[in-house]
Amino acid sequence: MKRRFWRICVLPSILMGATVASFAQDAKTVAKTLPVPDERYKLDVLLVVAHPDDEAAATAYLAKAMDEGKRAGVAYGTRGSSGANEAGTEQAAALGDIREVEARRALAKLGISDVWFIGGRDTASQDVLQSLSTWDHGAVLEQMVRIVRLTRPEVILTFLPGTFIGEDHGDHQAAGVLATEAFDLAGDPLVFPEQVTGPMRRLEPYFDNLRPWQPKKIYYFADASREDIFKGKGPSISLTDISKSTKQPYWRMALGSFLSHETQAKAYIDSFAKMDEAEIEKKATSNGWTQPLEFVLGKSLVGGSVTGDVFEGIKPGAIAFQRTQAAPASELPDVAIELAGPWNFYAAFRRAHGIENLPHPEPPEIALQAGTTLVIPLWLRNETASAQEIALTVDLPAGWKVESGDGKFLVAAQQVAALRVEISLPALNDAKATKQDAQEVTVHGASNGKSIGTVKLRVELRKRALPE
Ligand SMILES: [Zn+2]
Repeated sequence: MKRRFWRICVLPSILMGATVASFAQDAKTVAKTLPVPDERYKLDVLLVVAHPDDEAAATAYLAKAMDEGKRAGVAYGTRGSSGANEAGTEQAAALGDIREVEARRALAKLGISDVWFIGGRDTASQDVLQSLSTWDHGAVLEQMVRIVRLTRPEVILTFLPGTFIGEDHGDHQAAGVLATEAFDLAGDPLVFPEQVTGPMRRLEPYFDNLRPWQPKKIYYFADASREDIFKGKGPSISLTDISKSTKQPYWRMALGSFLSHETQAKAYIDSFAKMDEAEIEKKATSNGWTQPLEFVLGKSLVGGSVTGDVFEGIKPGAIAFQRTQAAPASELPDVAIELAGPWNFYAAFRRAHGIENLPHPEPPEIALQAGTTLVIPLWLRNETASAQEIALTVDLPAGWKVESGDGKFLVAAQQVAALRVEISLPALNDAKATKQDAQEVTVHGASNGKSIGTVKLRVELRKRALPE
């Protein structure tokens, strides 16, 4: 044991006694090669999503990248243990166990076997902060950073961290937030330093012996209904090109992969079973499978153009860690109202991560289920040395009603107080419609008879929507 330990440590040969003469001879003349990180797990592109089946948003691209010799892997935030089971009776954690297998089968069809689940809890809401809370943000970030250091991706591809009219799933957004945080943190040896510390003993049980890794580019795709604000912000990936390896178009490979998700879409999947290829293409085209993928460039640390190839500017080998410089926040008056919640978080997040280029709607927006309650979270800010009265009034579309949160409030000196304006939403104008056009809600703030600002939100009423 002792001899082997010395050899591994490459102790100076002067320490080697006569009892290890033969080894000492080796050590003097032949350098012992030290082990290196396992090359089999090195990726070119790491896709970070929230649920089994989310990967379908980018599998056509991954298939294309793999045709070009790139190595791809996928990290999921959750096992997808919420929602309906279309294929059996299993629910909750058991459903999550099945969906993990479905995701692995879906990716195996494309030749992707490097798949990780970081164990967040599937959380049905539009609020990224709820998802980050139920996922146990600190713990899943630690795992995400470990996966980036282990797989050393050149490129990270993930959901766009932002809130939009759309499905706008908080878990999707959380995947984008974690991936962005890991992009900026994995190269910093002071972040989770126990992961990048060398072993202190044989069979080291505490330290990962990974190395810091700075990915080179991060790209996003949005979970939003609108497409206009994302066009031209990154490469557009054609999916009708034919794969060298399968002789199929890339959209067809993505659809074939998706057919593994039976607990999520059994009826839809079964509908393809009796179709010939022409019928499959017709249906898939009408369902958007053949549409180009519109990626948004978050940032590149190696140059290249915004709409150029994902791997443009990327050369083999590590690059130095680049600490992100946060952009300064705009100054607010001493007495002010601000939209809080996820909207406020994202404004600060974009500044902190150097991604102020990410498209986001102005005014901020959300789609909510008709007949439910809209909550507008606010910060009431008083930086002055005395208590201040702030009066809130709300402008609403006809038929919408303020339940609480308007009126006068006293904010203590040098305090920032949280307040909710709650608005009951009417039924849809047309009971047969699935949605109606977005309308604007405005909260006016005033203090000492003067305006201290307004908060606007565009709200689309839908027949169904995730909870706010
Ligand atoms: Zn999802």
